[in-house]
Amino acid sequence: MGQPLAVNTSPPVQSLQQRPLTDLRGVGDRVAERFARLGVGTVADLLFHLPNRYQDRTRIRPIGSLRPGDEGVVEGMVQVTEVVHGRRRMLLARIADGSGLLTLRFFHFNIALADNLARGSRIRCFGEVRAGYNGMEMVHPEFRVHKAGGQAPLEDRLTPVYPICEGVNQPLLRRLLGQALTLLSEQGEAALEDYVPLGMRDRYRLPPLADSIRFLHQPPPDTDLASLRDGTHPCRVRLAFEELLAHNLSLRHLRQQVQSNPAPSLEPGGALLDRFLSQLPFKPTAAQSRVIHEIRHDLLRPWPMMRLLQGDVGSGKTVVAAAAAMIAVESGYQVAIMAPTELLAEQHLQSFRAWLDPLGITIGWIAGSLKGKRRNETLARLDEGEIQIAVGTHALFQEDVLFHRLALVVVDEQHRFGVHQRLTLREKSRASGHFAHQLIMTATPIPRTLAMTAYADLDRSTIDELPPGRTPVNTVVLADSRRDRVIQRVRAACAAGRQAYWVCTLIEESEALQCQAAEDAAAELTAELSDLRIGLVHGRMKSAEKESGMAAFKAGAIDLLVATTVIEVGVDVPNASLMIIENAERLGLAQLHQLRGRVGRGSTESHCLLMYHGPLSDNARARLEVLRDTNNGFEIAERDLEIRGPGELLGTRQTGMLQFRIADMMRDRKLLQDIEQAADELLTQSPRRVQALIGRWVGDKQGYGGV
Ligand code: ADP
Ligand code: MG
Repeated sequence: MGQPLAVNTSPPVQSLQQRPLTDLRGVGDRVAERFARLGVGTVADLLFHLPNRYQDRTRIRPIGSLRPGDEGVVEGMVQVTEVVHGRRRMLLARIADGSGLLTLRFFHFNIALADNLARGSRIRCFGEVRAGYNGMEMVHPEFRVHKAGGQAPLEDRLTPVYPICEGVNQPLLRRLLGQALTLLSEQGEAALEDYVPLGMRDRYRLPPLADSIRFLHQPPPDTDLASLRDGTHPCRVRLAFEELLAHNLSLRHLRQQVQSNPAPSLEPGGALLDRFLSQLPFKPTAAQSRVIHEIRHDLLRPWPMMRLLQGDVGSGKTVVAAAAAMIAVESGYQVAIMAPTELLAEQHLQSFRAWLDPLGITIGWIAGSLKGKRRNETLARLDEGEIQIAVGTHALFQEDVLFHRLALVVVDEQHRFGVHQRLTLREKSRASGHFAHQLIMTATPIPRTLAMTAYADLDRSTIDELPPGRTPVNTVVLADSRRDRVIQRVRAACAAGRQAYWVCTLIEESEALQCQAAEDAAAELTAELSDLRIGLVHGRMKSAEKESGMAAFKAGAIDLLVATTVIEVGVDVPNASLMIIENAERLGLAQLHQLRGRVGRGSTESHCLLMYHGPLSDNARARLEVLRDTNNGFEIAERDLEIRGPGELLGTRQTGMLQFRIADMMRDRKLLQDIEQAADELLTQSPRRVQALIGRWVGDKQGYGGV
């Protein structure tokens, strides 16, 4: 950098990361508060607040070239102007430029506006074109009448359109960004250091930070707009790369910190584990044995295990959890097993009791429904160490739940928990003097590259094999107009002594509506299949009700269980061999795969009928066909990624993944491998940059600082 030689000049430049927004002209405390809602606190934050799209006001478009949906500048002469009294009063002006005609439509207008648009005026306007009754039109365009001295010049850059919030509008953002970009230009690298070293930038073809920021806020007219829209422009990629790198580093940092804490080294003789395994009604698969071995190895070490166990639905993760528990119990410690819902926790409780009661192990139950005297009693037994394994829900981690000697925490179906809860767990186990080992289990198939970033703080094991004797689920995609045939299938399956699920979905996120749909479906099916015993389970039922419904189904007292997607995860009823999913096109592939995983758990051939409400888009059809063609969760996840266009994103809710300002784990997944390498390199070569990057992008927002 060309530093001036004179030494006695200006004071050192203050980093824009340190400068509050109030350093900009026109920003007082009130405005700063509004910006805080956008997550913008410093001048640097403002620079990272990127436009979500652009307008092209750099050229005049011939009216004849406009298509519906286009946004652009046109210039023309007003041909007619009239006020019409339709359902609403409005002003219509028609302009022509020799290439075509365009109608301007105003619902709000006054005399002055009508005067400006008088016949014969030459005007320039900007707006979005749509197809109207009489050809192309613009509703409420911005416009300006030609003055005697000629029109103002056109913009020389594309116009950014920013994400806004109440009290922060486009003009304000553009004005402040103008100032921020000027500061950036004047002060150069010193104001916003590029923490990605030059060599790394070259290797991954990343443009410099400041250039990228400037470009994205003020792209030149010849920019390839498509690449900005789909996120492949090198300047956006550069920022996404940096953000993903920072998150990866912060998770690894977190991991290092956790692992610098003590945890009990568990090295029992192994007799209990052997007894447990030998009394199981089946032999563990090779994959299960391998993972148990990995866990056993982790538990030996005097720092906390942090392992993610991925395994497709039905792959047998519960046995692995129980095996891990045996190691802790034999060493004289306690174990907590947590599931996201009471239904699932209850199921674990049953499995654990069946397997462990014969071994004389004491199991306790802690969930929201446990109250009063029984709760106090259980808490006391836990605190004294009499309970060796506590099974339950989030309730396990309430403040007054104290363990005597907690050494292992197992969290099932982690995608329901997310990073924050992972952190709470760590806090909890710290309370007992050391950190507990953690095993996190998920059936959400996350492709390897994504897992690398989303779970950079965890070691990963995979059960990549189903227990023997499972027949793959046969999946059929069919229109809901063939509902009669579906009903026949249900009748036939139940007549043969099998059981079936009928899952109702709705587009709306509203749980109430979903439950209503399930209630309606149950009533209808009860009328249609009067000889069957039909049950209902949905999220709005009391958990005791839900459980008794599930329990009845499990016990075979119900033939057909109508349900919402609450049964998505983990429920295990081997005699159920038919799964019907209504409006399957509305669900993500991962979720459909989870639901389908409820059948095919026994040795009979199982079927899954995916009913859709037509017409299906090509894309939706292709996605449902993926499910028809494979039963492998990881393959489904990969194919899902290929089919989804950019912008069609796997919800964070579903995956528990991190959220980013600029990056997008789906769109940017091709970067993830590079980021893993880049993070390795920075950690060994430039710890200062590591801290700086984490500070810039993650800060303390995720609560990592407290760990
Ligand atoms: P998930 O990985 O989906 O949690 P579960 O742990 O619920 O799977 O196991 C699914 C079913 O498979 C259970 O009924 C379980 O008892 C059974 N199972 C687990 N491991 C084996 C095995 N090695 N051989 C046969 N059945 C098994
Ligand atoms: Mg499970």
